[in-house]
This record gives sequence, structure tokens and C-alpha cells, in this order.
Amino acid sequence: MPTFALSRREMLVGAGSAALAVGFVEPAMAAGEIQLATGQNWTGWNLGDFRVLAVSDGKLGLGSPANWFAGLPVEKIEAVLKENFLDTTSISLAENILLLDTGQRLVMFDTGTGGNPMLGDTAGRLMASLAAAGVDPAAVDDVILSHGHPDHIFGLLGPDGKPAFPNAQVHISEVDFRFCTDDANASDPKVGAFVPEMKRQLLGVGDRIAMIRDGLEIVPGVTAIAAPGHTFGHMVFMLESGGKTLLNAADLAHHYAIFTRHPEVNFVSDQNPQMMAATRMRMFDMIATDRLSFVGYHFPFPGYGHLAKAQQGFEYIPASLDTI
Ligand SMILES: [Zn+2]
Repeated sequence: MPTFALSRREMLVGAGSAALAVGFVEPAMAAGEIQLATGQNWTGWNLGDFRVLAVSDGKLGLGSPANWFAGLPVEKIEAVLKENFLDTTSISLAENILLLDTGQRLVMFDTGTGGNPMLGDTAGRLMASLAAAGVDPAAVDDVILSHGHPDHIFGLLGPDGKPAFPNAQVHISEVDFRFCTDDANASDPKVGAFVPEMKRQLLGVGDRIAMIRDGLEIVPGVTAIAAPGHTFGHMVFMLESGGKTLLNAADLAHHYAIFTRHPEVNFVSDQNPQMMAATRMRMFDMIATDRLSFVGYHFPFPGYGHLAKAQQGFEYIPASLDTI
């Protein structure tokens, strides 16, 4: 005899209504049982004829903000954090992965940390989030990498060392591909420790790599735009359909509050912080002037919003999600 457990909510509805209550989602949690990590860490919206899903890989804990922003006194950092109702002693960055369904291709941008312990234990949730969103990794046609950093490419391979997205072509700038696969860069003071794993990940999908460059339309409706400085081959992407546009801004900015108020600040993990600050200021100005919508990889989930010019720097205005 088929059986099913009644949730507390169904029991409250009463036995007479049980037939109507079967559709309630299990498990139903009550006081003392609510868990934050089991949520469906994805959301989506329309972009012209395309559909966009933002899927969370979790977050990166950076610890004390004092170590990350060169040239900005710690009092100023704390003031911005405080104004934004954030913890002034420890900062974290979201990891927002975009999926774009063009109707012809399913495109994913970046792959998260893959749960690599070098990046902490609060990221690496991509596969669980994809499962929650009902996306089969084998259905992804293209993985477009914004750059070669570990929090973007360490999810290329599964725990078995095989491609985690077995049918996907992988796109990355040639500059970053060469940097990440060159043993000589293991002595790089900023990312050298990651180079052996960067190389393993990228060569693990080496038979399906395609190089991208500034201005290339990678798949119809997705165009690469060079945004150098964070890495020398760092790319952002303009997504366009039916007269609607969305800029996938990747790592144009890391901490949403600090870099919008102080876009000129140098971020210590940028390969060339001055070059990146110039790129950031130029592109922030474009986003605000052209009233573009954008997604920041490290902005608060889903990282989808706009920039308005403010008295000092810019203001980040999260988008109102139109999910229907
Ligand atoms: Zn990043």
C-alpha cells in the first residue's frame, strides 16, 4: 500500500483536507528545524527571448577587510561597511554563476571553486544549486570563463578528475590560458600557489578549449569585452536578446559596497591593481550612463542590479526580479 508522511502543515490542515494538501513541498520545517544551507540557491529572470538563471556557488570568506584594499585607510573601509549595515571585522564575497538559455544553447559562465579547500568551506555549492534548479550538468553546451582564477575555474573538473560539464565547450582568453598553464608562474607572488591546480583544471578540459578575444561573439547574443587588470585576460560579457541587454561584469568589482563608493581603490588580488581600477572606473561609468543592468560575480546573490552615479562614486541598486 503506498504511504506518505504527512507534514506538520498537512496535519494542521486536517485529515479531511489531506487530499488537497498532498502537493505541499516536503520536508516541512518548523521551529528549531529551519536550515539555511538547504535553500534553493538559484533564481531566474527573462532577458528578451533568453532566460537567465543565477545559481549560487556559495561565498568566499575574506576575513579582515584591512588586508584587501590598498590605499584606502581602514577607517574609511569601516565607514563604508557600517553605512551598508555590514560587519566591519570580516567580509565575504558571494559567488554568482550565470546560466543563459538562448533557446539554442545552454551557456554557463564560470564554475566556482569546485569545493577546493584552498578556497574555504563555504563555497563549492554549484552542483547542489544546479540540482536544485533542475539543471543537468550534461546539458550545458558552453562554459565561458571570465578569467583563470581559482574561484572561477576550479569547478571545471569533477572529483573523479573528469570534466564536470561533459558536453560543454570551454571558452577562455588565450592570455589567461597561457598564464595558468605555465609552470613558471608557480612563483607568481599573488596566485603562484594556485598555478598547479589551475593547470590541472584547464588541461583536464584541454581537448575542448576555445580561445576568446575582445569583441568576439562567442555564441549568438554573447559578446566578449576585454576588462584587463584583475587578470590580463579578464573578460566581461554583453548578453543581448530582443533589444534587452545584460552585462555579465564578472570580477570588474569584488566587494559591492567598497568598490561602488571607491571604484578607484586598488584590490590586492588584482594582477595589476592600477590597470583594473582604470578599467573599473571606465566600465562603471558606462553602466551608469547607459543605464545597463549587470550581474557582479561577487555581489550579493543574485548580484543583479544597476549603478547610479552618487556624490562619491556610485550606488548599487539591486534589480527588481521579474521571474514570471
Ligand atoms: Zn573572483
